[in-house]
Amino acid sequence: MRFHLHTPREDIILPWDSAPLPRSLTTRNAALPHGFEPGVKPLRRCGSSDWDALRRTALTWFQVSAKISRPCCAALIEELGSPLFSPVLVFDNALRERWTLKILLTIFCLTLLVEPALLGQTPQGDGVARLLEELSNAPGPSGFEGPVRDIMVRALHGLGIETSTDGLGSVIGVLAGSSERPRIMLAAHMDEVGAIVRYVMPEGMVKFQLLGGWLDQALADQRWIIMTNRGPVPALSGLRSVHVTPSEERGRVTPRDEVFLDVGARTKEEAEAMGIRPGDAIVASSTFTEFAHGRYVGKALDDRVGCVMLLETLRRLKAQGAKTPNTIYFVGTVQEEVGLRGAHTAVEVVKPDLGISLEAGIAADHPGGRPDLAQERLGAGPVLYLADAAMLVNLKLRDFLERVAAQNSIAVQTEVTTGGAEDSAALQQFGAGRPAINFAVATRYLHAHNSEIDRGDLDRAVDLLVKALNLLDAQAVANISRF
Ligand SMILES: [Zn+2]
Repeated sequence: MRFHLHTPREDIILPWDSAPLPRSLTTRNAALPHGFEPGVKPLRRCGSSDWDALRRTALTWFQVSAKISRPCCAALIEELGSPLFSPVLVFDNALRERWTLKILLTIFCLTLLVEPALLGQTPQGDGVARLLEELSNAPGPSGFEGPVRDIMVRALHGLGIETSTDGLGSVIGVLAGSSERPRIMLAAHMDEVGAIVRYVMPEGMVKFQLLGGWLDQALADQRWIIMTNRGPVPALSGLRSVHVTPSEERGRVTPRDEVFLDVGARTKEEAEAMGIRPGDAIVASSTFTEFAHGRYVGKALDDRVGCVMLLETLRRLKAQGAKTPNTIYFVGTVQEEVGLRGAHTAVEVVKPDLGISLEAGIAADHPGGRPDLAQERLGAGPVLYLADAAMLVNLKLRDFLERVAAQNSIAVQTEVTTGGAEDSAALQQFGAGRPAINFAVATRYLHAHNSEIDRGDLDRAVDLLVKALNLLDAQAVANISRF
């Protein structure tokens, strides 16, 4: 990507990564935002508040100068984050250039329409997908969330939000609104199901114990990464060859206690020399992939899709300019998969008036899936959890969200299941009790090397969150909290 900056003094093409910024850079209708002064400050290192301000400035300028509609402007600006395109952004002080600008914008808009189709990519192949890819690929079993936390902290700082951590390692960012109360806590857990090294066998094979809920049938014949002090060690959960498996055992699932990891070592000493020690984290090895029709596949979408929901909601709220009528806490929690442990401690720091956990929900819309056990379907919109193994929803909060969804023509689905417990249960039980809900993106094949979501569900979930958070003022939360 590049920016073409047409100024009265010079034409400058700025690459995305390191843009020398000209002293004379002002638009006709608005001064450029703070952070775009002369110098060699790379655009990526400018705070996202600067980036958001630039987007707003560009939006205003496009509308006034080129007389194109606001939705078209917004779409155009949104797509600037896409690596698929090489858009040209023109900042121009001269009215006489208007026709040139119109032509350039027309070409650019046509490019937006045509190029994704040519490449077979979704037109939303943008920063949201790349963020989900980075988060999905990052290793972060329960208790070992460091790499995911680093991404979250970087993203929050990039959006101009200071962060802190609680005593277990959950990361907390605050977006101050026009009022200190109510405090709204959004929680997405950073950890994923995984395992830890229990014992290294004399022949160099590694035995482990699981972190979080796994099916035994998901364990054998998979690739894994052992996170050692000396760096990542690739591993394979070996599967007996069919040639030497008795016919009566060929349909049998290998029980978890029989599964072992082969790291290429021939002895215990060789394995230890590779850095492997009891207590090291083990994480699924799986690479994020975009499937057809906006379907995304990767490991740990439970709950990296929630992490993206959290960050994208924050980005959208900052971009809107106006403050929310509340103060919102954006929390990436730890150790959810081993018993909501991070949410239990983070909630003591935040002390919320209302809580929403952002999650990967249980889609059962595949052969063998049972809607009598879980009802979610991919592509049917965000999910309001009414009941799971750990909580019953606050009915007024449910009604509020359903009303906001209907007013904004956002389809939602509901879930009633006994499968799983979410951070919202810890939010609900804070203090004397708080309104809370689990808000999810339907996800197939949870707690395995590969899970799948629909991009449209993620986008609509963020749409609904942004609308709802703008309405959750003191009066609304008081009404929801009253019995
Ligand atoms: Zn989860």
